Amino acid sequence: MKIICVGRNYSNHAKELGNEVPEEPVLFLKPDTALLKGSELYIPEFTNDLHYELEVVVKISKAGKYIQKENAHKHYEQIGLGLDFTARDIQSQLKAKGLPWEISKAFDGSAIVSSFFKKETFNLNSLNFSLLKNAEQVQLGNTSAMLFDIDTLVSYASKYFTFRVGDLLFTGTPQGVGPVKEKDHLQAFLESDKVIDLQIA
Ligand code: MG
Repeated sequence: MKIICVGRNYSNHAKELGNEVPEEPVLFLKPDTALLKGSELYIPEFTNDLHYELEVVVKISKAGKYIQKENAHKHYEQIGLGLDFTARDIQSQLKAKGLPWEISKAFDGSAIVSSFFKKETFNLNSLNFSLLKNAEQVQLGNTSAMLFDIDTLVSYASKYFTFRVGDLLFTGTPQGVGPVKEKDHLQAFLESDKVIDLQIA
């Protein structure tokens, strides 16, 4: 499986990092080795500024290429939450040089995903999700603020990358990204249910 991620899909987050609001979705990939095994994350030795980014994640249930937006909903049945961990110091250095920032985003353990839940349980156009760091809320998002909605993202991404069953789509993070340090405790909520509980080792 592969992980397709969307950057800058919430204007308040694009602005907090000093980025322009994009006219088309910004995509990047994480390999399957990016998925964290277990419930503890060790901060990699190559970064001094590891950031959390909480995102709604879509699990692809039907393969497809050139998926039309109106058919996109047929290609996923479940959603969950994920953390797109980012070595912000490395990403900033690479961005400044105009280089691809893959190593800051796609390293081992950089993707955390919750369990997945039937999409019918939710209103995908107005889904609340939030992240607590050490019991204090640091991110609060609602999918209504997405620049590109889920079906648009599925359609757009499938122009370039064939979706296979089990692929994951990270749909972008809202405002409030920030660093983690050793011993931090992250809890992510989908509506009022806690779906991720992660200890930084
Ligand atoms: Mg992200």
